[in-house]
Amino acid sequence: MAPSRRELLEKAAFLGAALGFGQCWPGLAQAAVVDGDLRAQLEVCKPSLKPLQQLIAGNQRFMKAWAAAGEAESPDLRMQALQLAYGDGGCEIKPQALAKGQRPWAAVLTCADSRVPLEWLFNTGDGELFGVRSAGNTAFNEGVASLEYAVANLDVPLIMVLGHSGCGAVTAAMADAMLTPLLEDLVTPIRASFVPGNNLTEAIKSNACYSAAQLPKRSELLRKAQTSGKLKIQPAYFDIESGQVSLLLV
Ligand SMILES: [Zn+2]
Repeated sequence: MAPSRRELLEKAAFLGAALGFGQCWPGLAQAAVVDGDLRAQLEVCKPSLKPLQQLIAGNQRFMKAWAAAGEAESPDLRMQALQLAYGDGGCEIKPQALAKGQRPWAAVLTCADSRVPLEWLFNTGDGELFGVRSAGNTAFNEGVASLEYAVANLDVPLIMVLGHSGCGAVTAAMADAMLTPLLEDLVTPIRASFVPGNNLTEAIKSNACYSAAQLPKRSELLRKAQTSGKLKIQPAYFDIESGQVSLLLV
């Protein structure tokens, strides 16, 4: 069978990208420095609302597009519905500015699940959200360290810990199936969050709250930032079917 137009385009794009391959170890990466001009460009996309309100407002726009996508009859029309919302509220920083540094205004610790695309969920552009991901959105060492970097070096004022409906990692933690040693390590903190008798949705929510509580316990830097009022940590839950992100009360 002849390849489709999409397959040909994808193959051409891959070959184009292959021509741009670079070395794995070109030397030590330079730390991002935000100069005056760059800061002004990055400020173009600074949210008008407080970070948490901005995330929720962006999610409200996504929910409308998500509902429209659910009504659309083809993949193309579904993508069009999502892009309409993206153009409506998103803001894109120039690539030339992004190449010089970043000034994200919120961090999100969430699951690696492919159904949780942060920029879509919160209707944001590149350079706005600092994403840390691992299956089950646990407070794993490298993730906590990444959040320390975001708070200390990028002045991020908000960390959202986002669980989601149907989470496979929480499902695995609830089951008795044999896991690899590394997967056992991954589900151990999820199991620590469980409340006896909880169903899957309740367990996903308690896991998000537990991870959020672990951040200031495991990191002195995050604890001090939270205590001083410089940092807010907010657990939340994403329902895939409705597209809604709901805040969880601590
Ligand atoms: Zn998950």
